[in-house]
Amino acid sequence: MPAHTPRPGEPPAEALAPILRIGHGYDLHRLEPMPPVGQGRPLIIGGVCFEHDRGPVSHSDGDALLHALTDALLGAMALPDIGQVFPDDDPRCESRDSADFLREALRLVRERGYAPVNLDATVILERPKLSARKDEVRASIARLLGMPLDRVNVKGKTHERVDAVGEGRAIEVHCVVLVQEIHGGR
Ligand code: MG
Repeated sequence: MPAHTPRPGEPPAEALAPILRIGHGYDLHRLEPMPPVGQGRPLIIGGVCFEHDRGPVSHSDGDALLHALTDALLGAMALPDIGQVFPDDDPRCESRDSADFLREALRLVRERGYAPVNLDATVILERPKLSARKDEVRASIARLLGMPLDRVNVKGKTHERVDAVGEGRAIEVHCVVLVQEIHGGR
């Protein structure tokens, strides 16, 4: 039984409730020493640069956290994924700041009448430890999305020295984001 029975002429309660959509994103980048030994780029996580002897191998700047978040936003709107919107063989994406991908995903979300409500991400990385700079990463993402800090969460974990991630040869990120309809799209 519905909690509220609308009067004649009144729209049903579900028509007035904001529509919520959830999106999930995942990304992994191989970590290699810097050139000329390997092909690693500077290690950037959520728009924050970390000092490390290895970095992501990537066509863009290799920010795995922003890639996962971009995919989560696109996924929430059932849009094509980051690899389709920004192909890695497109020369315009070479060394590109991943904040550009996130801004475009946010623009596409807003264009459809939605806005992010909150997000939760898990970064899996053996070294360096994320914990000391976690709030800096959260603040960077909050700034990029124009969201309050308490709606942006980032967790750091190791992979317990197991497999490639645990051996420091890769960074892995999982992210979920909730978006809400902001004006009458129906
Ligand atoms: Mg990526």
